[in-house]
Amino acid sequence: MSETLLTARQLTRRFGGLAAVNEVTLDLWRDRIHAVIGPNGAGKSTLTNLLSGDIAPTTGTVTLAGRDVTGWSPERISRAGLGRSYQKTNIFPPFTVWENVRLAAQSRTPHAARWLARAAGVRAANERAERALELAGLQARRDHLAGAASHGEQRQLEIAMTLATDPQVLLLDEPLAGMGTAEAERMVELLLRLKKDHAMMLVEHDMDAVFTLADHLTVMVNGQVIASGTPTAVRGDAAVQSAYLGE
Ligand code: ADP
Ligand code: MG
Repeated sequence: MSETLLTARQLTRRFGGLAAVNEVTLDLWRDRIHAVIGPNGAGKSTLTNLLSGDIAPTTGTVTLAGRDVTGWSPERISRAGLGRSYQKTNIFPPFTVWENVRLAAQSRTPHAARWLARAAGVRAANERAERALELAGLQARRDHLAGAASHGEQRQLEIAMTLATDPQVLLLDEPLAGMGTAEAERMVELLLRLKKDHAMMLVEHDMDAVFTLADHLTVMVNGQVIASGTPTAVRGDAAVQSAYLGE
């Protein structure tokens, strides 16, 4: 069994009368990709937001690398080692690829450290940004304006920005959305590279990618987990077939 880096226990988030996420329990493990699938409105993005601290749970707990981070701000959770991308792209179009990654790297440095060890902090942020750019395969694009990059490169850039905070846990919300075949293949290769040393939650609609990448698969419908296990086991689950895969 590999190391558990994130645990959600019975997470619930209500919006008025709607339980967008309802008693969800899941684990993310180092060196493994845990894919979460489900129809639109199933609660996948809300779950991502709960794990990243962007919204607070109504009930339930989130543990990150052994620490209870329930109710922490997104900035504090980021500094504790969690990085996320958004379903809609989050880049600054008028800045270059490098500037975007470098800005993201800066956000990992707490204010106190920024002032106490300014030079060291700048150097560390530069190094994190360089590593992230290389890991995401974007060195050749570093001086291009982010807004002029292709859709696929913008999604790669968003992942580079996530990596620049040096996370142990990665939450990726539909990284293949809107991609053509070649772009999607490049992204699948990138995600396979990122599997090493990270625990990853992958929310994705592209089933070929999910079955290529996932070590573990959870299916959500109406805020609830209806199946969770190896991709092969989940694919054969009768409830999943009737509720979601339509086979
Ligand atoms: P998915 O990402 O699986 O498509 P979401 O998590 O975006 O699903 O949404 C789950 C449900 O919660 C949907 O019914 C959606 O309308 C609702 N929802 C999401 N965010 C909010 C919000 N801020 N206020 C009210 N309802 C919301
Ligand atoms: Mg969503």
